[in-house]
Amino acid sequence: MLTRRQFLKSGAGVLGAAAGLSFFSASGIIDQFSQSLPVLLYHRVGPESDDLTVSTERFAEDMAYLAREGYHTISLDQVGQQIRGAIKLPEKPVLITFDDGYLDNYTNAFPILQNFGLQASFYLITGMIGQVNRMSAAQVREMQAAGMSFGSHTVTHRPLAGLTPNEAAAELNNSKTWLEQMLGREIAFTAYPCGSFSAQTLRLAAEAGYIGGFSTRSGLAAFRNRLAIRRIPIFHFDRSIAYVMLKKGFLPTLFGQ
Ligand SMILES: [Zn+2]
Repeated sequence: MLTRRQFLKSGAGVLGAAAGLSFFSASGIIDQFSQSLPVLLYHRVGPESDDLTVSTERFAEDMAYLAREGYHTISLDQVGQQIRGAIKLPEKPVLITFDDGYLDNYTNAFPILQNFGLQASFYLITGMIGQVNRMSAAQVREMQAAGMSFGSHTVTHRPLAGLTPNEAAAELNNSKTWLEQMLGREIAFTAYPCGSFSAQTLRLAAEAGYIGGFSTRSGLAAFRNRLAIRRIPIFHFDRSIAYVMLKKGFLPTLFGQ
């Protein structure tokens, strides 16, 4: 639920920063990467041809690539522990995220993730759970039992920066409470609808008890601001995850093997 133009606007300049890395300073690159966590942002997996849908075949190829390259998909619990300084993430960590809670996340993406032994995190619009073309509570519970993580994508998916403080607080608090009751565990992360947030949003997210918040701003420096974590959006028109990772400055097989 975000146009390509909005994505490009929010990510403007970041590509330039990534491209500005000196590839002649290997130690600098490794040092910078060791502090970074690529957070991939998918929306839908299926036959649709809009910007935010990747084909099932393409998603399977993406996951095969990550598995082959030795990436370790991590859970939201691990991200939370890393933010708190309690653990160090495994080598070549990657966090796979899905926004909006579409049904195809369960029918198409979930079986592929399981095939490759990978985990992902899904951000749900609580007011839409169980509606047409969205995942049901039972499906979400099944995925949780299989090791998938879940976070809030608010109640109604309205851009938070445009809401009053009371409205934004209700979106953040009520979706958190709803998911905690539905899943029987703490919900510590949220993803801001349409990537919309302000300083007020970040304050309200902290007050609601979130450890971290995901933006749609593009980049690698995941934890510079834990309430505005950058992600790498994956689009229909991207050739492959390998191409996207390379474009973002991740060099497959060069330093990682
Ligand atoms: Zn969304």
